[in-house]
Amino acid sequence: MQLIILGAPGAGKGTLAKNIQQYKKLTHISTGDLFRKHIKQQTDLGKLAVRYIDQGLLVPDEITDDLIEHELEIIRSDFVLDGFPRNISQAEELDRIMKKFDIKLTACVHLDIDPDIVIERLVNRRSCLDCGAPYNLIMAPPKVEDVCDKCGGKLVKRADDNEDTINHRFETYRQETEPLVNYYQDKGLLIEVNCDRGILTELDNLWQDLLVRE
Ligand code: ADP
Ligand code: ZN
Repeated sequence: MQLIILGAPGAGKGTLAKNIQQYKKLTHISTGDLFRKHIKQQTDLGKLAVRYIDQGLLVPDEITDDLIEHELEIIRSDFVLDGFPRNISQAEELDRIMKKFDIKLTACVHLDIDPDIVIERLVNRRSCLDCGAPYNLIMAPPKVEDVCDKCGGKLVKRADDNEDTINHRFETYRQETEPLVNYYQDKGLLIEVNCDRGILTELDNLWQDLLVRE
């Protein structure tokens, strides 16, 4: 099964991807996580990407497309893509890559969310520095302040989760990424999920939808 998760910043893409990974034994590929790893390791790619990420802009397509092609070449099938594609050009590139590797997209899950809800969620978002587990200070706080329940790692705020960058990320999402909803709708691949109450409340329905498409 090959899945894409599409959604505004903070809609719950990463949380859903981690749940699908467990439920369906798919490999989770997050372009955001890949970029953050490069930034932490201060690679050339990381140094380049951080300039865009800090402004809430998309990293240029050539760079992102290469990164994904390289990942898919290793993984080949049974994956959930979180954060790619993010514009029509990337979607067309993904079509080309998947054709080359002779695999088909099973579905694109669109996480629909009220922008007012999501901004508050982003401001209160924290994640584990070591294992990446997501937390929310209001909806899903850790048992001990600033400490990961799962591994004891330190909880941190992402550098791009400040109000200025958040606004730019939304603008980018609306202009570049949202047109993908129609792109996948036209292909008959879209599954709509409303996440105003949080993605975790919607999982049972989603598993049903995915079962039908398998
Ligand atoms: P969010 O969806 O909450 O903004 P992500 O971790 O998916 O978080 O992405 C963080 C940042 O990484 C984006 O704002 C963007 O700068 C960059 N990025 C991630 N995926 C892509 C992509 N497919 N194309 C270009 N830039 C990307
Ligand atoms: Zn952890």
